[in-house]
Amino acid sequence: MKSNKKIRTRYAPSPTGYFHVGGARTALFNYLFAKHNDGDFIVRIEDTDIKRNVEDGIKSQLTNLAWLGIKIDESIENPGKYGPYIQTAKLERYKELAFKLLKEKKAYYCFCSPADLQKARQQALEHNQTPKYNRHCLNLSQSEIEKNLASGKPYVIRLKMPDNHTFKWNDLIRGEISVPSSSLTDPVILKSNFYPMYNFAVVVDDYDMDITHVIRGEEHISNTPYQIAIKEALGFDKKDIQYGHLSVIVNKDGKKLSKRDSSLRQFIQDYKDMGFYPHAITNFLALLGWSPKSHKEIMTMDEMIKDFDITHVSKAPTFFDMVKMCWVSNKYIANLDDQAYLRMIKPFAKEINWKDFAAKSQDILLLFKKQITYCQEITSLVKEHFYDYQIEKIDKKSFQNSWWKILDVFCDELKKQKLVSYDVAKEIINQTGKIAKCKGPNLFMPIRLAITSKNHGPELFKILFILGNELVLERIANLKKIYG
Ligand code: GLU
Repeated sequence: MKSNKKIRTRYAPSPTGYFHVGGARTALFNYLFAKHNDGDFIVRIEDTDIKRNVEDGIKSQLTNLAWLGIKIDESIENPGKYGPYIQTAKLERYKELAFKLLKEKKAYYCFCSPADLQKARQQALEHNQTPKYNRHCLNLSQSEIEKNLASGKPYVIRLKMPDNHTFKWNDLIRGEISVPSSSLTDPVILKSNFYPMYNFAVVVDDYDMDITHVIRGEEHISNTPYQIAIKEALGFDKKDIQYGHLSVIVNKDGKKLSKRDSSLRQFIQDYKDMGFYPHAITNFLALLGWSPKSHKEIMTMDEMIKDFDITHVSKAPTFFDMVKMCWVSNKYIANLDDQAYLRMIKPFAKEINWKDFAAKSQDILLLFKKQITYCQEITSLVKEHFYDYQIEKIDKKSFQNSWWKILDVFCDELKKQKLVSYDVAKEIINQTGKIAKCKGPNLFMPIRLAITSKNHGPELFKILFILGNELVLERIANLKKIYG
């Protein structure tokens, strides 16, 4: 696959929506492939479907790509010598090339109205034929064309598909694919408003930008023969471009991710808002279809670049496993150093009203470092373990006599020493165990239940330190009043 030519890949989003999981995976694979081969990764904005463009569509792509750690060599923000990097800035170029094909008789004017086309389509369907353009305008005489033009009749320009031709490519992921020209229609290349059709603009841009490899979603397989046809008509096939089509990403029911699927978020911004660790998403996305030879599941970007191999990318549908993504994100967050973790989690903890624990808010946040999968979880964790003491939840029957003895010793110890550190908290628990002659769960359970009303949670000595002498003694005294 290595050639002397500089490898150049591109991610070419249409800003008709926000940056989603599928787009992010496509961008990432193009990036990994380019960087593995010392090449360049380009982002080109395909905005010619102007009615469908959404505000902030471009921003959503570029800011979230940066957030994922995908570095762009050339784009509208950092143009190189292959610009413009946005299609609406190139309309003249597309128009000029479409008219060139027209002049060379490789394309033709089509004056059919939408109603004509619909009628022809209906007829084809009635005769069990694949609906394709009936070439009504292919053989218009020069005088008919001139008459139509003079009267201002709207037209589009269509490419004339060659007869008896087969379009073939060796797909980087799927192997050889061939499509006979007889199954294809004569595609519109230039619309009546002189905007290019998608397939036409893509071919012109991939050529102009010296793109060497096109890696994109499998929904584009049906576009590829058209793009090859356009490329051949323009004489652009002298520059070799290889195509690879990635598999579809599916949910747990085997269905393509869709906006209607409420169980799964599909925009990268959603994951950012939830506080996932950015490189965890990138790492997880890389495994959507790619099986690294090393079988490693946790990889830095450099490791992914080094190991990336397009021949180990599967064409089978790939499952977006939210449980796995949470697992990966947790691996990264749990391994952060405390300061980095606090920097990441603090913005998500803004809503917490720390009340009595304001002085120990950092200690509390750190308690959950090992278990957080995404930062938004912090509010409910803190609430559950520090602001949800419910004495009535403590099962009276479980409070055996022996437990009261342990708690009495524990309270005595607590009265002797101020809880100024985790070490003191540990010492108080150990001392209680020694005096009450018990250890392990027999020692921890009565204390934990009495002071937290729960039978699980962060390490006991940490909870103890954070709650402090006063609150702990107060809780145990209340419990004794009711149950003792
Ligand atoms: N603009 C196309 C899209 O957003 C991608 C085109 C391509 O990769 O060839 O689906």
